[in-house]
This record gives sequence, C-alpha cells and structure tokens, in this order.
Amino acid sequence: MKQILKYFIVVLLYYSGLAFVFRFLKRLSRSNQKPLILMYHQVFDDPKAELKYSQAGLYVSTPVFDKQMSYLAKHYKPISLADLATSIRSNQTLDPKNIVITFDDGWRDNYQHAYPILKEYQLPAIIFLTANFIGTNDIFWFMRAATLMTINKLDRQQLRALFKKVCLSSAESDSAAIETMASDTDWFIEKLKKLDLIVINRVLDELSKSNKKSDNTGDNSRWTMNWDEVKEMSQHGISFGSHGCTHRVMTTLSSDENMRELRDSREVIEAKLGLRVDIFSYPNGDYNIEIEKLVEQGGYLCAVTTKGIGKPGNKSELFALRRIGVHEGISVGPRGNYSRAMFDFHLLRNS
Ligand SMILES: [Zn+2]
Repeated sequence: MKQILKYFIVVLLYYSGLAFVFRFLKRLSRSNQKPLILMYHQVFDDPKAELKYSQAGLYVSTPVFDKQMSYLAKHYKPISLADLATSIRSNQTLDPKNIVITFDDGWRDNYQHAYPILKEYQLPAIIFLTANFIGTNDIFWFMRAATLMTINKLDRQQLRALFKKVCLSSAESDSAAIETMASDTDWFIEKLKKLDLIVINRVLDELSKSNKKSDNTGDNSRWTMNWDEVKEMSQHGISFGSHGCTHRVMTTLSSDENMRELRDSREVIEAKLGLRVDIFSYPNGDYNIEIEKLVEQGGYLCAVTTKGIGKPGNKSELFALRRIGVHEGISVGPRGNYSRAMFDFHLLRNS
C-alpha cells in the first residue's frame, strides 16, 4: 500500500511539472550545482532466472536499463568520470546536468547487455574491474551466499544457528539497519561482510555441506568478463578502473594488504589494456582517511564510494566521490513496469 501511494505521489509530481520546478529551484543553490555519479552492478536479460544468484539491489533488467540510458541521453549531459575528476581538480565550474555512469565488479552481463545500449546512445561509462576475477570462472563470495540462500530456501533462524556453530560473534543481533532488512539474503550478506574472507568461506562451506542443493550458479559458468571483452569495450568508449584484486573490504585489511590491492590490480589491468588506470572504486564502498591517502600515494587520480560525505564538488572529496546506487526497484511502478517518473524522482531526490 505504501509503495502504491509513493508511486502515485511521484507520478503526480512528475506529470504536474512540480518535479521540474523543484529541480530548477534546487539547482539555483550553489551547493547543489554538482553532477551525480550513478552506480550500477549487474544487467539481467532474465531477472527471474538470474536473481537466484544475486540480490535485488544489485541489478537492473536490460529493457529498464535501455530506458534509463535513453532518459539520461535526452535530459542530462553524460560525461566520463576522468573528465569530472579533472574539472574538480582544476576548480572548474561544474554543470549540474552532467552525470557519470559507473559499474562495479566487472560482470560479464555488462559486456553482454549494457555495452550494446551504451554504444547505441553513445554514452561514456566506466567499469571497475576486480582484477583477479577477470577471465576466470571464479565467483564472488556474495554470489555464492545468495545462491546457497535462494536454492535452499534458508531463513534467518537457520542461519543464526549456523553462525553460532562457525562464528559466534556473528550470531548476535546487529545494528537496526541490518536487523530490519526485509530480505534474508541481504541480511545474511551484510552480516558476512563484517568477517574475514577465510571465515566467510568457512561459513559458506559449512552451509554448502549441510544442505542438499549445492552452490552451482546455473548454466552460465563465467559470470565476470574476460580480457578480450574488456579490450573490445575499451576500444569503443568504455573506460576501466580498479576495484582491487580480491574484492575484500579494505577497512578490514592491513596497510600492506591494501597497498597490494591497489598496486597489483592496477598493474594487471594496465598490462592487459595497455592503458593507464587511475580511478579506483572501494569494494563495498568502505574506506577511511588512511585508505584515501594510500589510494592517492598509489598514483590514482580519484576514488569512488557509496558512502561519501556529499556530492562531488571539492578537491578534498576526490578520493571519496559519492555515488548514487541504481537498481531495478528505483525506476519501476507497482506492476514492475519502467516508470520515467520514478527514475526522475530517484535522481531528483539525490541531486
Ligand atoms: Zn563490488
């Protein structure tokens, strides 16, 4: 009911022209003259089948992505992240109509489904690669967790018992933000994110052992891009940055480990592409001041997160540029159809 009400208010705002007036007034304020940076993850052709291996907040369907890109091409001035960072660095006035499109992780579907659409609308975009996964059949631990959860239809109670067995501290209640999550899969993954990768794998191995259905992630044996796909895209308007080597959360690692993540990922991508790689995306968006300094020392031009202090605009924010997450749910109406008004509202709310 709440969803339907929200949808009608958003549609009313959009079609009455009030959303346009709000946006105009917002842009009059100096502090709001900052471009948005959008963050995408996966683009699914068949969400019903593919969502089994992922989370609702991480995907958009191909037709919805097409409509979103068409909307951006028409109503915004998309620019590359490198151009935005250069403008910020040289204190140039920013155009609030500029917008940046980014993707995290290096999913194969970005090549299969997003790339043809980006090419069609001639939109610049940057994809942050998790270097060790590119060109392999390895899957991210969070994908394995989602798969085990959905195919075995597990709930929180069963998982708490598992945590008790493998990792006592995680059995306890977490922050309200985590405990009130509607999806059991999201809840499980958020709890796992706080653990060391070795412990995460121990939990997942135990889960795999104690359930009949395995964590086989469908017919698609390769979920991340290979280097030929990366090269082809880089020759046709898509830029690439680093998302580390292993996707481990940097706030849980030592300085030496973080430096290796920054340096090795960059070297691998640069060697494969023959291009300079100087933009970084923090895995899970997690960073601190010490890590920001390491990124800068590592020769990067800027870094993006999901948890920055504000919209990009100042030099001091170059290593913590905040992004706005985009997923299917933010731009569809109650029946699941794409709604221009909903997408516009998501952008307006965050601008
Ligand atoms: Zn990621």
